[in-house]
Amino acid sequence: MFNMTPAILRNFLGDRATRRYPHVIRPSFENARGAIHNDIHICTFCGVCAAKCPSQCIAVEKKAATWSYNPSACVCCGVCAESCASGSLQQERNYRKPFREKEMIVLKGTSSSAVNDTVSISAPAQP
Ligand code: SF4
Ligand code: SF4
Repeated sequence: MFNMTPAILRNFLGDRATRRYPHVIRPSFENARGAIHNDIHICTFCGVCAAKCPSQCIAVEKKAATWSYNPSACVCCGVCAESCASGSLQQERNYRKPFREKEMIVLKGTSSSAVNDTVSISAPAQP
């Protein structure tokens, strides 16, 4: 017990080892890889992101002008954003928030205008 006294006092009197999340959020590291966002207004539907995605979680229909993305299957590797020549696909630095349910993000647009839509999938996410 007496051997532990210095450690106990340090823990009581020193700085906290943990943060009071979500009140205190640690900033992301410089090269952190977060959520993927597509600015559908400038997407050319070239399909390169879908072809390069190792998780096969992107689908592009050029004729229908739709870009679909399954965030539950995305591993945030960033390959799609790095290979997007138009710059429409961007990766956030902030960590992606956990999901309550699976969803498929479907963005529809043309070269000049776009309509965005999110379609929920009924199956619950695995913990
Ligand atoms: S997001 Fe980029 S890489 Fe993917 S289809 Fe659109 S323009 Fe092509
Ligand atoms: S970040 Fe990686 S896994 Fe996620 S959509 Fe892009 S290429 Fe696919």
